[in-house]
Amino acid sequence: MPERLQPLQYLLLPLIILGGVYVYLPQLPPFSSPWEELLPSVPYLLGGLIALLGWHFNSGRSLLACILILLTNLSLRQPFEPLYQQTLLVLLPLNMAQIAWYRERGVLSPTALVRLAWIAAQIAAVTAAIHYHPEQLLQGLNFHPQQLPELPLPFVVLSTLAIAGLAVLARLLSQQDRFDAYLLISVVVSCGLILLPIPQRDLSLVISVLLALWLFSLFRHSHSLAYLDDLTGLPGRRALNEHLTRLGKQHCLAMLDVDHFKKFNDKHGHDVGDQVLKLVASKIAKVRQGKGYRYGGEEFCVVFAGRKLEQTLEPLEELRQAIEDARLQLRSAKRPQSNDQGKKQRGTAGAKSSSVSVTISIGIAEHQPKQNTLKAADKALYKAKAAGRNRVCH
Ligand code: GH3
Ligand code: MG
Ligand code: MG
Repeated sequence: MPERLQPLQYLLLPLIILGGVYVYLPQLPPFSSPWEELLPSVPYLLGGLIALLGWHFNSGRSLLACILILLTNLSLRQPFEPLYQQTLLVLLPLNMAQIAWYRERGVLSPTALVRLAWIAAQIAAVTAAIHYHPEQLLQGLNFHPQQLPELPLPFVVLSTLAIAGLAVLARLLSQQDRFDAYLLISVVVSCGLILLPIPQRDLSLVISVLLALWLFSLFRHSHSLAYLDDLTGLPGRRALNEHLTRLGKQHCLAMLDVDHFKKFNDKHGHDVGDQVLKLVASKIAKVRQGKGYRYGGEEFCVVFAGRKLEQTLEPLEELRQAIEDARLQLRSAKRPQSNDQGKKQRGTAGAKSSSVSVTISIGIAEHQPKQNTLKAADKALYKAKAAGRNRVCH
């Protein structure tokens, strides 16, 4: 799958689970008492958990999405007028799309509270419109341009669904974030539930599964906070230590260190240094047969589980070469002051961007009884540095 389409994989698991629930629902026997009576409360219980976790992990956007799902659940319950559901069909996708494009601002910050107030204001406005001007509201919702043919759904609903769906999809493809995949699924499921009503009990089950998926995504988020390195996206030291405890007797460890990186930082600045570390990490993430970790600073570690030393030399040499060949494009230091100047400069020598690159040294060691493999790999790395850098030693 092309790299840009990889976030679509995030859609797979929730779609399989929700699809399974949808197919299995009609055959599901009633739960024993009191579980059956408790079922309608489960979505709110899960909502409370999401609020708590969202607050803990500073994910106000998850909380907003969860509130919208709970509002859908509420509007589909008995005393609510169908007009509420029709309005929700328009407002829900638009609000979900808005959440996708919000920057994360936590749960209790002023911005987060304004966002909550915005949802509350919409609820108040819709309630007032249903109470005082139901006909005008209905007319507005069913507005249909004369030149258009008959549509399967009201024009307003179809257009907001399309705009919001595309907005969330665009965000998902550009940010590659699991959060946006879950938003997209929530829009589809919530609108599906409004358009194709199901029994109240089944509704509780589907909404509960959807919220459980959100809970799972929050756990995944907390997991990545603890295990993934912020700058490079590679797993960090904690994840490495865990992997080391799970390794069998047959394994090799490689220590990798960027050459002369202090000088590189001095020459090009810390920010360019960070960009290069990301580039190096992206190559390490693809190393054949091994799993890469950021050990700390400009040092990385690759674990080769179940491999002999000879089997690791070729993938490591390929990695060393790939990093040597990789170029980071730098924007010209003589950047134009204005757009006009920029247009004139483009294509001239002054505007040419330059590129930088780094090399790495690698030390590899095979596990031996009564030997600290990481230390042995470090020793081999020292050897590679002493022998002139940009090489693999063991
Ligand atoms: P050698 O070839 O012997 O490894 O030389 P070196 O200069 O790379 O050696 P050393 O390990 O002493 O220097 C590491 C430098 O890496 C120091 C620090 O400025 C830089 N560095 C460590 N972490 C980061 C980071 O996250 N970002 C940037 N930009 N630089 C970092
Ligand atoms: Mg170092
Ligand atoms: Mg170094």
